Amino acid sequence: MLSSKWVNGTILHYWFLDGPAAQQQAVRDAFAEWKALGIGLVFTEVQDRSEAEVRIGFDQADGSWSYVGRDVLGIPATQPTMNFGWDLTTDYGRTTALHEIGHTLGLPHEHQNPFAGIVWDEPKVYDYFSGSPNFWPREQTFSNVLRKLDPTEVEGSTWDPNSVMEYWFPAGLIIQPAQYHSGLEPAGGLSATDKEWILRFYPKLKATNPLLTPFVSVPLSLAPGGQANFSIVPSETRRYELGTFGFADTVVVLFEEVKGKLRHLAANDNSGTDRNAKVQVKLFKDRKYVARVRLGWAGASGQTAIMLW
Ligand SMILES: [Zn+2]
Repeated sequence: MLSSKWVNGTILHYWFLDGPAAQQQAVRDAFAEWKALGIGLVFTEVQDRSEAEVRIGFDQADGSWSYVGRDVLGIPATQPTMNFGWDLTTDYGRTTALHEIGHTLGLPHEHQNPFAGIVWDEPKVYDYFSGSPNFWPREQTFSNVLRKLDPTEVEGSTWDPNSVMEYWFPAGLIIQPAQYHSGLEPAGGLSATDKEWILRFYPKLKATNPLLTPFVSVPLSLAPGGQANFSIVPSETRRYELGTFGFADTVVVLFEEVKGKLRHLAANDNSGTDRNAKVQVKLFKDRKYVARVRLGWAGASGQTAIMLW
């Protein structure tokens, strides 16, 4: 979903709450597999819970799940944002790890894509997911399987039955399309379409960006979900404000370049409101900073601008 996507270039810090070494390694490998596609997001394991946006548990009685995209920022630091409830070292388990990380990257379930045109045998679906290993109450089955996503929140217009974000369904749960009446078994792992779409959301970032100069506003011609990146090299040390203008839903993230690596400095996420993102931060003369702005949705004019002052 567009509104849940991270700003490209975000450094996601993950932390293991517990879990055997082999299970933790399977999760690390799954992060590495997503990263190896060439996406602009960065995944860094940390040893301290307080530094982690992504907190990973292995409660074997809680199934496998993850919050979606930037929703993880709203979860109290005392709680996990992702859980694995079964062995991740099998083929199925490896796909599970990729799937739950896919949620953390902002991907919804493919079978809830309204363009899939799936007609469910609803009583059988409720019955199936109420059993082992899920033990889901009805509302959870509804929200994870039966509920259709809003078409405006879905990218693309087709359905990818082999997506890593698709479930495996046994025979009898799907009435239409008829070819899946005997069950739906995705190939497992990342599909060609998964790889194509994640690179559209999080393309490889360019090494250099246009320079943002204080008190000069720059119009942003962005489509919803689009992103612009700027470099900042202050000529004086002081407090600055960085913000966007126009009726729009924007996210602004500011990084400092330290020894060739970007370090997260400040962020403002005004998701769900039509207020513009703004950050206030002290910047130091001649240091290098990178500002990234992502547009959720634009108002009627479709016009936004960014300025540093
Ligand atoms: Zn899922």
